[in-house]
Amino acid sequence: MRTHLQLPPTTPLHRVRNLGILAHVDAGKTTVTERMLYLTGATHKRGEVHDGTTVTDFDPQERDRGITIFAAAVSCDWDGHRINLIDTPGHVDFSDEVERSLRVLDGAVAVFDAVAGVEPQSETVWRQADRHRVPRIAFVNKMDRAGADLDTAVASIRDRLHTAPLVVQLPIGQEDGFTGVVDLVRMRALIWAAGHDAFTDVPVPQALREEARRRRRALEEAVAELHPGALEEFCARPASDGSRDPDGSPALRERTLTAALRDLTRSGDGVVVLCGSAYRDRGMEPLLDAVVSYLPSPLDAPPVRGIEDGEERERAADPEAPFAALAFKVHSTATGRLTYLRVYSGTIEKGDVVLDVAARRTERIGRILRVRADRNTEVDRARAGDIVAVVGPKTARPGATLCVPSAPLLLEPPAAATPVVSVA
Ligand code: GDP
Repeated sequence: MRTHLQLPPTTPLHRVRNLGILAHVDAGKTTVTERMLYLTGATHKRGEVHDGTTVTDFDPQERDRGITIFAAAVSCDWDGHRINLIDTPGHVDFSDEVERSLRVLDGAVAVFDAVAGVEPQSETVWRQADRHRVPRIAFVNKMDRAGADLDTAVASIRDRLHTAPLVVQLPIGQEDGFTGVVDLVRMRALIWAAGHDAFTDVPVPQALREEARRRRRALEEAVAELHPGALEEFCARPASDGSRDPDGSPALRERTLTAALRDLTRSGDGVVVLCGSAYRDRGMEPLLDAVVSYLPSPLDAPPVRGIEDGEERERAADPEAPFAALAFKVHSTATGRLTYLRVYSGTIEKGDVVLDVAARRTERIGRILRVRADRNTEVDRARAGDIVAVVGPKTARPGATLCVPSAPLLLEPPAAATPVVSVA
């Protein structure tokens, strides 16, 4: 297993991923989240949905009902990147909350059940994500289930979500015998051994080579159609020794394809599809790698829009710009009132006074916390692109905009604010 160093609290913005996991209830969103936290070393024990030990579903009511109701943000580190996981509610009754959590994230993983394919709620959340222009990758989970079929699930993604699936893996084995995937970008096979966290990265087995080549061609064709010229342009680049390499070396082709897939993901013109079984710990590392490779950083997000002095204004994700953040979640916990913020521009420091724009009240930022699964880390400041929880604001509600008092930019109309959640 790869080891992952925990990053220092301040990570360069291009290495930050503010990520949401979207799914129909029961598709495996909680299990995927738990496995991500476990693999990234953010937790040292696996949470199991059925025994109520999951980290993101920390509300007792939520545990009892076994569904994810209240969003929480947890951060973890993978391959030199900070991933802030924003848990979006999958239940349609709470779609206001889904909307707000979609607003504060920069990219998402949509989880589907390999047997059921696209289900009604996955369609609803997909449309909401479309409206917020959230770049997505798709993870077809539960490949170990009887009746699991990647091709059928991919067809339902194409037909029901009206998007162009870009399938980057070929499953190895079916149902109970699902043991790995061929990575069609790197043309390597990843095999998970039963009962171990580790996988082996081996050449594509002889029996699968023809099929893998055929699928790789199909992937390249789909990319070329959606992103004309992307592959040719890179493949025709001069090699570092100055010679031309018309066919492209495998490494160059891999880089080229990855760059084209990144462009398509970020433009929303295509959706990279991966598969696995979260429950059996299969396919999770490639999923984390895909999050880092394909999904955008806060720097790639368009500037945030809001109302200042009655006019619509934009602010870029610039730590030097005036501070503006959206409170997207407030938890009244036994240890204090935690306000989760997405910082869109500027920087706040411990002790700063900010304005709750709609309420026209100032609030003092006491402590700034990076919320992790096992513990919270106190940090001195939060910058544009960050997701943090702050202690100090006494009245700010979810949906509130917090700004530097001299430049108030209202990010969300006051009517949309929702009640505070109490957690015992
Ligand atoms: P959520 O409602 O989307 O958060 O889904 P959960 O993570 O709670 O999973 C719903 C059920 O599916 C639970 O009983 C999980 O144990 C089970 N589950 C999750 N992932 C897999 C998987 O990869 N394979 C199988 N067979 N079951 C899974």
